[in-house]
Amino acid sequence: MSLHNGRPYLAIPGPSVMPDRVLQAMHQPSPNIYYGELVDMMGDLVKDLRTVACLPDGHVAIYITNGHGTWEAALANTVAPGERVLVLATGTFGEWWANTARAMGINVDLLNFGLQDTIDPDRVADHLRADTGHEIKAVLMVHVDTATSIRNDVPAIRAAIDAVNHPALFMVDCVASMGCDRFEMQNWGADVAIAASQKGLMTPAGMGFVYFNDKAHEARKGLNLVSPNWDWTPRAFPENFYRYFGGTPPTHHLFGLREALNMIVHEEGLESVWARHAKLAETIWAAVDAWGAGGEIACNIAPRHLRSHAVTTIRMQSPNATALRDWVSDKAGITLGISMGLADPGDPAWHGIFRIGHMGHVNAHMIMGVLGCIQAGMSALKIPYGEGALDAAAAVIAQA
Ligand SMILES: *Cc1c(COP(=O)(O)O)cnc(C)c1O
Repeated sequence: MSLHNGRPYLAIPGPSVMPDRVLQAMHQPSPNIYYGELVDMMGDLVKDLRTVACLPDGHVAIYITNGHGTWEAALANTVAPGERVLVLATGTFGEWWANTARAMGINVDLLNFGLQDTIDPDRVADHLRADTGHEIKAVLMVHVDTATSIRNDVPAIRAAIDAVNHPALFMVDCVASMGCDRFEMQNWGADVAIAASQKGLMTPAGMGFVYFNDKAHEARKGLNLVSPNWDWTPRAFPENFYRYFGGTPPTHHLFGLREALNMIVHEEGLESVWARHAKLAETIWAAVDAWGAGGEIACNIAPRHLRSHAVTTIRMQSPNATALRDWVSDKAGITLGISMGLADPGDPAWHGIFRIGHMGHVNAHMIMGVLGCIQAGMSALKIPYGEGALDAAAAVIAQA
Protein backbone atom coordinates (compact mmCIF):
# COMPACT_ATOMS: atom_id res chain seq x y z
CA MET A 1 0.00 0.00 0.00
CA SER A 2 1.15 3.57 -0.66
CA LEU A 3 0.72 6.46 1.74
CA HIS A 4 2.03 9.16 -0.55
CA ASN A 5 -1.22 10.95 -1.35
CA GLY A 6 -1.23 14.30 0.39
CA ARG A 7 1.15 17.21 0.12
CA PRO A 8 4.41 16.16 -1.56
CA TYR A 9 7.76 17.26 -0.12
CA LEU A 10 10.58 17.85 -2.58
CA ALA A 11 13.48 17.38 -0.15
CA ILE A 12 16.25 17.91 -2.73
CA PRO A 13 18.83 20.70 -2.55
CA GLY A 14 17.10 22.91 -5.06
CA PRO A 15 14.68 23.78 -6.32
CA SER A 16 13.40 24.08 -2.78
CA VAL A 17 9.93 24.08 -1.27
CA MET A 18 8.11 27.28 -2.22
CA PRO A 19 5.76 29.02 0.23
CA ASP A 20 2.12 29.17 -0.90
CA ARG A 21 2.36 32.92 -0.38
CA VAL A 22 5.08 33.13 -3.02
CA LEU A 23 3.00 31.12 -5.47
CA GLN A 24 -0.08 33.21 -4.75
CA ALA A 25 1.84 36.45 -5.24
CA MET A 26 2.73 35.21 -8.73
CA HIS A 27 -0.84 34.26 -9.58
CA GLN A 28 -1.98 37.43 -11.29
CA PRO A 29 -2.36 38.87 -14.78
CA SER A 30 0.67 40.30 -16.56
CA PRO A 31 1.41 43.70 -15.09
CA ASN A 32 2.13 46.98 -16.83
CA ILE A 33 5.89 47.00 -17.41
CA TYR A 34 6.13 50.75 -18.00
CA TYR A 35 4.46 52.23 -14.89
CA GLY A 36 2.97 51.14 -11.62
CA GLU A 37 3.56 48.47 -9.01
CA LEU A 38 6.34 46.52 -10.72
CA VAL A 39 8.39 49.59 -11.57
CA ASP A 40 7.80 51.15 -8.15
CA MET A 41 8.87 48.09 -6.18
CA MET A 42 12.36 47.68 -7.70
CA GLY A 43 14.21 50.05 -5.35
CA ASP A 44 13.12 48.21 -2.20
CA LEU A 45 13.57 44.82 -3.86
CA VAL A 46 17.21 45.59 -4.63
CA LYS A 47 17.73 46.90 -1.10
CA ASP A 48 16.28 43.71 0.40
CA LEU A 49 18.39 41.55 -1.91
CA ARG A 50 21.47 43.34 -0.57
CA THR A 51 20.24 42.79 2.99
CA VAL A 52 20.09 39.02 2.43
CA ALA A 53 23.76 39.11 1.36
CA CYS A 54 24.74 41.52 4.18
CA LEU A 55 26.02 43.99 1.64
CA PRO A 56 24.99 47.46 2.82
CA ASP A 57 27.29 49.36 0.48
CA GLY A 58 27.59 47.24 -2.64
CA HIS A 59 25.63 46.50 -5.77
CA VAL A 60 23.57 43.68 -7.23
CA ALA A 61 22.71 42.77 -10.80
CA ILE A 62 19.67 40.57 -11.48
CA TYR A 63 19.86 38.18 -14.44
CA ILE A 64 17.21 36.00 -16.05
CA THR A 65 19.29 32.87 -15.56
CA ASN A 66 20.14 30.09 -13.10
CA GLY A 67 23.19 29.52 -10.92
CA HIS A 68 25.27 28.40 -13.90
CA GLY A 69 24.55 31.73 -15.57
CA THR A 70 25.81 33.65 -12.55
CA TRP A 71 29.12 31.73 -12.69
CA GLU A 72 29.54 33.12 -16.20
CA ALA A 73 28.22 36.58 -15.36
CA ALA A 74 30.62 37.02 -12.43
CA LEU A 75 33.62 36.11 -14.59
CA ALA A 76 32.45 38.00 -17.69
CA ASN A 77 32.59 41.27 -15.73
CA THR A 78 35.94 40.76 -14.06
CA VAL A 79 38.33 38.50 -15.99
CA ALA A 80 39.36 38.63 -19.65
CA PRO A 81 40.07 35.56 -21.82
CA GLY A 82 43.72 34.59 -21.41
CA GLU A 83 43.87 35.86 -17.82
CA ARG A 84 44.20 33.54 -14.84
CA VAL A 85 42.05 32.59 -11.84
CA LEU A 86 42.50 30.27 -8.87
CA VAL A 87 39.59 27.92 -8.12
CA LEU A 88 39.31 26.22 -4.71
CA ALA A 89 37.22 23.07 -5.17
CA THR A 90 35.53 21.01 -2.45
CA GLY A 91 33.04 19.22 -4.67
CA THR A 92 31.32 19.22 -8.03
CA PHE A 93 30.15 22.81 -7.95
CA GLY A 94 33.63 24.26 -7.57
CA GLU A 95 34.86 22.05 -10.42
CA TRP A 96 31.98 23.20 -12.62
CA TRP A 97 32.73 26.86 -11.94
CA ALA A 98 36.29 26.08 -13.06
CA ASN A 99 34.89 24.46 -16.24
CA THR A 100 32.86 27.58 -16.95
CA ALA A 101 35.99 29.71 -16.62
CA ARG A 102 37.95 27.41 -18.97
CA ALA A 103 35.14 27.53 -21.54
CA MET A 104 35.43 31.34 -21.45
CA GLY A 105 39.12 31.12 -22.36
CA ILE A 106 40.31 31.84 -18.83
CA ASN A 107 43.33 29.93 -17.50
CA VAL A 108 42.46 28.03 -14.36
CA ASP A 109 44.69 27.00 -11.46
CA LEU A 110 42.68 24.40 -9.59
CA LEU A 111 43.35 23.43 -5.98
CA ASN A 112 41.19 20.43 -5.14
CA PHE A 113 40.58 19.62 -1.48
CA GLY A 114 38.62 16.42 -2.09
CA LEU A 115 35.07 15.41 -1.35
CA GLN A 116 35.07 15.25 2.45
CA ASP A 117 37.29 18.11 3.54
CA THR A 118 37.40 21.88 3.58
CA ILE A 119 39.76 24.34 1.90
CA ASP A 120 43.19 24.54 3.52
CA PRO A 121 43.99 28.28 3.85
CA ASP A 122 47.74 27.56 4.05
CA ARG A 123 47.72 25.90 0.61
CA VAL A 124 45.82 28.91 -0.74
CA ALA A 125 48.35 31.33 0.76
CA ASP A 126 51.28 29.28 -0.59
CA HIS A 127 49.78 29.25 -4.07
CA LEU A 128 49.18 32.99 -4.06
CA ARG A 129 52.61 33.74 -2.58
CA ALA A 130 54.19 31.95 -5.53
CA ASP A 131 52.29 34.24 -7.92
CA THR A 132 54.80 37.05 -7.51
CA GLY A 133 53.69 38.76 -10.73
CA HIS A 134 50.07 38.91 -9.53
CA GLU A 135 48.80 37.19 -12.65
CA ILE A 136 45.91 35.60 -10.75
CA LYS A 137 42.98 37.97 -11.17
CA ALA A 138 40.46 36.22 -8.94
CA VAL A 139 40.14 33.53 -6.29
CA LEU A 140 36.91 31.52 -6.65
CA MET A 141 35.35 29.41 -3.91
CA VAL A 142 32.00 27.80 -3.17
CA HIS A 143 30.60 28.58 0.28
CA VAL A 144 28.39 25.48 0.54
CA ASP A 145 29.14 22.81 -2.05
CA THR A 146 25.77 21.17 -2.60
CA ALA A 147 27.30 17.89 -3.78
CA THR A 148 29.40 17.15 -0.68
CA SER A 149 27.41 19.39 1.72
CA ILE A 150 30.64 20.96 3.01
CA ARG A 151 30.39 24.50 4.41
CA ASN A 152 33.68 26.28 3.81
CA ASP A 153 35.06 29.08 5.98
CA VAL A 154 34.88 32.25 3.90
CA PRO A 155 36.72 34.62 6.32
CA ALA A 156 39.59 32.11 6.61
CA ILE A 157 40.19 32.30 2.86
CA ARG A 158 39.93 36.09 2.89
CA ALA A 159 42.57 36.07 5.63
CA ALA A 160 44.82 33.79 3.54
CA ILE A 161 44.61 36.19 0.58
CA ASP A 162 45.34 39.17 2.82
CA ALA A 163 48.22 37.41 4.58
CA VAL A 164 50.19 37.43 1.32
CA ASN A 165 48.89 40.83 0.20
CA HIS A 166 47.52 39.42 -3.03
CA PRO A 167 45.27 41.83 -4.97
CA ALA A 168 43.06 39.16 -6.61
CA LEU A 169 39.31 39.59 -6.41
CA PHE A 170 37.63 37.19 -4.00
CA MET A 171 34.48 35.56 -5.41
CA VAL A 172 32.11 33.30 -3.51
CA ASP A 173 29.36 31.02 -4.84
CA CYS A 174 26.48 31.32 -2.35
CA VAL A 175 23.82 29.64 -4.49
CA ALA A 176 23.17 26.95 -1.86
CA SER A 177 23.83 29.06 1.24
CA MET A 178 22.16 32.42 0.62
CA GLY A 179 19.19 32.72 2.97
CA CYS A 180 20.13 29.50 4.83
CA ASP A 181 23.66 29.76 6.24
CA ARG A 182 25.21 32.88 7.74
CA PHE A 183 26.98 34.79 4.98
CA GLU A 184 28.16 38.37 5.54
CA MET A 185 29.50 39.54 2.22
CA GLN A 186 30.81 42.91 3.32
CA ASN A 187 32.18 41.95 6.77
CA TRP A 188 33.77 38.82 5.38
CA GLY A 189 35.45 40.70 2.55
CA ALA A 190 34.02 38.99 -0.53
CA ASP A 191 34.29 41.18 -3.63
CA VAL A 192 31.76 39.19 -5.68
CA ALA A 193 29.05 36.79 -4.53
CA ILE A 194 26.50 34.88 -6.56
CA ALA A 195 23.09 33.45 -5.73
CA ALA A 196 20.01 32.12 -7.49
CA SER A 197 16.30 32.34 -6.80
CA GLN A 198 15.36 28.69 -6.31
CA LYS A 199 17.19 27.65 -3.17
CA GLY A 200 17.16 29.62 0.09
CA LEU A 201 15.30 32.44 -1.64
CA MET A 202 12.23 30.20 -2.09
CA THR A 203 11.27 31.45 -5.58
CA PRO A 204 11.05 29.48 -8.86
CA ALA A 205 14.30 28.84 -10.74
CA GLY A 206 15.06 31.47 -13.35
CA MET A 207 16.66 34.44 -11.61
CA GLY A 208 20.35 34.78 -10.77
CA PHE A 209 21.99 37.47 -8.64
CA VAL A 210 25.53 38.78 -8.88
CA TYR A 211 26.60 40.96 -5.95
CA PHE A 212 29.74 43.06 -6.22
CA ASN A 213 31.62 45.85 -4.51
CA ASP A 214 33.46 48.87 -5.89
CA LYS A 215 36.74 46.98 -6.19
CA ALA A 216 35.09 44.43 -8.48
CA HIS A 217 33.44 47.20 -10.46
CA GLU A 218 36.87 48.74 -11.05
CA ALA A 219 37.87 45.43 -12.67
CA ARG A 220 34.75 45.63 -14.84
CA LYS A 221 35.74 49.12 -16.01
CA GLY A 222 39.16 47.80 -16.99
CA LEU A 223 37.77 45.24 -19.44
CA ASN A 224 37.62 46.10 -23.12
CA LEU A 225 34.63 43.98 -23.99
CA VAL A 226 31.77 42.54 -21.94
CA SER A 227 28.86 40.98 -23.82
CA PRO A 228 25.75 43.10 -23.40
CA ASN A 229 23.62 40.44 -21.70
CA TRP A 230 26.26 39.74 -19.03
CA ASP A 231 27.40 43.33 -18.46
CA TRP A 232 26.38 44.12 -14.90
CA THR A 233 26.68 47.91 -15.37
CA PRO A 234 23.17 48.72 -16.66
CA ARG A 235 21.57 46.08 -14.42
CA ALA A 236 23.13 47.42 -11.23
CA PHE A 237 23.14 51.13 -12.18
CA PRO A 238 20.03 51.43 -14.39
CA GLU A 239 19.15 54.80 -15.88
CA ASN A 240 15.55 53.62 -16.09
CA PHE A 241 13.49 50.55 -15.28
CA TYR A 242 14.04 48.96 -18.69
CA ARG A 243 17.80 48.78 -18.07
CA TYR A 244 17.48 46.50 -15.03
CA PHE A 245 16.73 43.60 -17.34
CA GLY A 246 17.70 44.85 -20.79
CA GLY A 247 14.27 43.82 -22.08
CA THR A 248 11.05 42.46 -20.68
CA PRO A 249 11.44 41.93 -16.94
CA PRO A 250 10.77 38.52 -15.35
CA THR A 251 7.47 39.92 -14.10
CA HIS A 252 6.05 37.05 -12.08
CA HIS A 253 9.37 35.95 -10.67
CA LEU A 254 9.74 39.46 -9.31
CA PHE A 255 6.34 39.28 -7.59
CA GLY A 256 7.31 35.93 -6.09
CA LEU A 257 10.70 37.20 -4.96
CA ARG A 258 9.08 40.28 -3.39
CA GLU A 259 6.90 38.01 -1.23
CA ALA A 260 9.81 35.72 -0.33
CA LEU A 261 11.91 38.69 0.78
CA ASN A 262 8.98 39.99 2.82
CA MET A 263 9.02 36.70 4.68
CA ILE A 264 12.81 36.44 5.08
CA VAL A 265 13.83 40.05 5.70
CA HIS A 266 10.75 41.74 7.14
CA GLU A 267 8.89 39.01 9.00
CA GLU A 268 11.10 36.18 10.27
CA GLY A 269 14.34 38.18 10.04
CA LEU A 270 17.63 36.96 8.58
CA GLU A 271 19.19 36.00 11.94
CA SER A 272 16.15 33.88 12.78
CA VAL A 273 16.18 32.29 9.33
CA TRP A 274 19.82 31.27 9.86
CA ALA A 275 19.05 30.00 13.37
CA ARG A 276 16.12 27.91 12.12
CA HIS A 277 18.28 26.29 9.45
CA ALA A 278 21.04 25.60 11.98
CA LYS A 279 18.61 23.92 14.39
CA LEU A 280 16.92 21.83 11.68
CA ALA A 281 20.30 20.70 10.35
CA GLU A 282 21.31 19.67 13.87
CA THR A 283 18.08 17.67 14.09
CA ILE A 284 19.03 15.70 10.98
CA TRP A 285 22.59 15.10 12.23
CA ALA A 286 21.27 13.78 15.56
CA ALA A 287 19.17 11.21 13.71
CA VAL A 288 22.00 10.19 11.35
CA ASP A 289 24.39 9.74 14.30
CA ALA A 290 21.91 7.43 16.06
CA TRP A 291 21.21 5.41 12.92
CA GLY A 292 24.94 5.14 12.32
CA ALA A 293 25.52 3.61 15.75
CA GLY A 294 23.77 0.45 14.54
CA GLY A 295 24.29 0.44 10.80
CA GLU A 296 26.40 1.68 7.96
CA ILE A 297 25.10 5.24 7.65
CA ALA A 298 26.92 8.54 8.16
CA CYS A 299 27.08 12.17 7.10
CA ASN A 300 29.61 12.70 4.28
CA ILE A 301 31.22 15.53 6.23
CA ALA A 302 32.40 14.34 9.64
CA PRO A 303 33.18 17.60 11.54
CA ARG A 304 29.93 19.32 12.47
CA HIS A 305 31.34 22.82 12.09
CA LEU A 306 32.03 22.10 8.40
CA ARG A 307 28.50 20.94 7.59
CA SER A 308 25.98 22.92 5.60
CA HIS A 309 22.73 23.97 7.27
CA ALA A 310 20.88 23.68 3.95
CA VAL A 311 21.79 20.25 2.56
CA THR A 312 23.10 17.01 4.08
CA THR A 313 24.88 14.35 2.02
CA ILE A 314 24.53 10.91 3.57
CA ARG A 315 26.52 7.75 2.83
CA MET A 316 25.18 4.25 3.37
CA GLN A 317 25.85 0.79 1.99
CA SER A 318 25.22 0.53 -1.78
CA PRO A 319 22.58 0.07 -3.21
CA ASN A 320 20.56 0.96 -0.13
CA ALA A 321 20.43 4.71 -0.80
CA THR A 322 18.72 4.27 -4.16
CA ALA A 323 16.29 1.71 -2.72
CA LEU A 324 15.52 4.09 0.13
CA ARG A 325 14.95 7.06 -2.16
CA ASP A 326 12.56 4.98 -4.24
CA TRP A 327 10.74 3.75 -1.15
CA VAL A 328 10.14 7.17 0.44
CA SER A 329 9.04 8.55 -2.91
CA ASP A 330 6.56 5.73 -3.64
CA LYS A 331 5.24 5.22 -0.13
CA ALA A 332 5.64 8.53 1.65
CA GLY A 333 5.50 11.37 -0.90
CA ILE A 334 9.04 12.60 -0.21
CA THR A 335 11.65 13.10 -2.93
CA LEU A 336 15.23 12.84 -1.64
CA GLY A 337 18.26 14.10 -3.53
CA ILE A 338 20.48 11.87 -5.67
CA SER A 339 24.22 11.54 -5.33
CA MET A 340 26.15 14.19 -7.21
CA GLY A 341 29.85 14.07 -7.94
CA LEU A 342 30.80 11.63 -5.18
CA ALA A 343 30.63 8.63 -7.53
CA ASP A 344 29.90 8.24 -11.24
CA PRO A 345 26.30 7.25 -11.99
CA GLY A 346 27.63 3.98 -13.50
CA ASP A 347 29.60 3.14 -10.34
CA PRO A 348 27.78 0.90 -7.79
CA ALA A 349 28.95 3.36 -5.10
CA TRP A 350 26.53 5.91 -6.60
CA HIS A 351 23.67 3.90 -5.08
CA GLY A 352 25.11 4.34 -1.59
CA ILE A 353 24.69 8.11 -1.40
CA PHE A 354 21.67 10.39 -1.05
CA ARG A 355 21.08 13.96 -0.02
CA ILE A 356 18.43 15.71 2.07
CA GLY A 357 17.63 19.25 0.98
CA HIS A 358 16.55 21.38 3.94
CA MET A 359 16.86 24.83 2.45
CA GLY A 360 14.32 27.63 2.51
CA HIS A 361 10.71 27.12 3.54
CA VAL A 362 11.12 24.13 5.87
CA ASN A 363 10.16 23.74 9.50
CA ALA A 364 10.30 21.27 12.37
CA HIS A 365 7.42 19.04 11.35
CA MET A 366 8.71 18.72 7.78
CA ILE A 367 12.15 17.64 8.99
CA MET A 368 10.70 15.23 11.57
CA GLY A 369 8.49 13.88 8.78
CA VAL A 370 11.47 13.28 6.48
CA LEU A 371 13.42 11.55 9.26
CA GLY A 372 10.44 9.43 10.29
CA CYS A 373 9.82 8.31 6.72
CA ILE A 374 13.51 7.53 6.12
CA GLN A 375 13.45 5.33 9.20
CA ALA A 376 10.23 3.66 8.03
CA GLY A 377 11.90 3.00 4.69
CA MET A 378 15.01 1.50 6.28
CA SER A 379 12.79 -0.69 8.42
CA ALA A 380 10.70 -1.84 5.43
CA LEU A 381 13.82 -2.51 3.36
CA LYS A 382 15.59 -4.27 6.25
CA ILE A 383 18.50 -1.83 6.13
CA PRO A 384 20.25 -2.09 9.51
CA TYR A 385 20.21 1.08 11.61
CA GLY A 386 20.71 2.13 15.22
CA GLU A 387 17.81 2.80 17.60
CA GLY A 388 16.71 6.10 19.07
CA ALA A 389 17.19 8.38 16.04
CA LEU A 390 13.75 9.93 16.15
CA ASP A 391 14.00 10.46 19.90
CA ALA A 392 17.36 12.13 19.39
CA ALA A 393 15.91 14.37 16.66
CA ALA A 394 12.91 15.25 18.82
CA ALA A 395 15.23 16.16 21.68
CA VAL A 396 16.99 18.72 19.46
CA ILE A 397 13.64 20.22 18.45
CA ALA A 398 12.55 20.25 22.11
CA GLN A 399 15.57 22.41 23.03
CA ALA A 400 14.75 25.03 20.38
C1 LIG B 1 22.50 24.77 -7.38
C2 LIG B 1 23.87 25.32 -7.35
C3 LIG B 1 24.49 25.89 -8.48
C4 LIG B 1 23.87 25.84 -9.84
O1 LIG B 1 22.62 26.42 -9.91
P1 LIG B 1 21.69 26.12 -11.16
O2 LIG B 1 20.57 27.04 -10.88
O3 LIG B 1 21.32 24.68 -11.09
O4 LIG B 1 22.43 26.46 -12.39
C5 LIG B 1 25.73 26.45 -8.34
N1 LIG B 1 26.38 26.43 -7.17
C6 LIG B 1 25.83 25.86 -6.06
C7 LIG B 1 26.61 25.87 -4.80
C8 LIG B 1 24.57 25.30 -6.12
O5 LIG B 1 24.03 24.73 -5.03
